[in-house]
Amino acid sequence: MGQGQITENLQSVRDRVRAAAEAAGRTGDEVKIVAVTKNAAPEEIMVAYNAGQRRFGENRVQDLTTKAAALPSDIEWHFIGHLQSNKVRDAILSSALIHSVDSVKLLDRINAIAEELHTVQYILLQANISGEATKFGATRREIVALAERAVDLKNVFCAGFMTMAPYGATDEELEHIFSSLWSIRDFMRERHARIMPELSMGMSDDFQTAIACGATYVRIGTAIFGNGAT
Ligand SMILES: *Cc1c(COP(=O)(O)O)cnc(C)c1O
Repeated sequence: MGQGQITENLQSVRDRVRAAAEAAGRTGDEVKIVAVTKNAAPEEIMVAYNAGQRRFGENRVQDLTTKAAALPSDIEWHFIGHLQSNKVRDAILSSALIHSVDSVKLLDRINAIAEELHTVQYILLQANISGEATKFGATRREIVALAERAVDLKNVFCAGFMTMAPYGATDEELEHIFSSLWSIRDFMRERHARIMPELSMGMSDDFQTAIACGATYVRIGTAIFGNGAT
């Protein structure tokens, strides 16, 4: 996609994020944009970088590692895809935040490798609200158990929760899914006294609804970089 188009798209996304936040009685700063680069080449990522974007997201560890090595070091990389055990080390080495922790096994593995690397890995717990068989993510019950377990681990810091809505969900379904993530955060605060503020929800087609439901991170690819078809 052309440089001018990417710059224009990014500005449009920023404007729409701000408008959606203000419409919900929030400020634009409360919603952080993760520019998703899975269909973007390094030159295209640099266009967004030059327009001031510093927070980018990848869903494959190999691509994350390659892009992180090739691009400026002040980029804050987020890992948003399904994470396999054997890729945990590489994910930790490049990610400020891993959005997709959905099992005890993965949580414990991240903690163990982060300890070896003498670091604390920031994570989100990925919930599967809609219960789709094809999507990753833990059930509400599992999420609560994972959040409690994370508190006891020294080398992970659970900052909140993430979810993905199924493709083609209706507005009602979207509202149900996004408010359910909000209510998990609320439950952790009210019943478990755990403050886990971040809610990563909303993509190109549904970020406005997600912001109305309290999103603090929106993960936006196509609306900035196109679909990679060109
Ligand atoms: C690709 C992807 C996105 C961005 O989706 P768009 O519809 O292109 O904005 C967000 N989150 C995850 C986990 C993704 O894999």
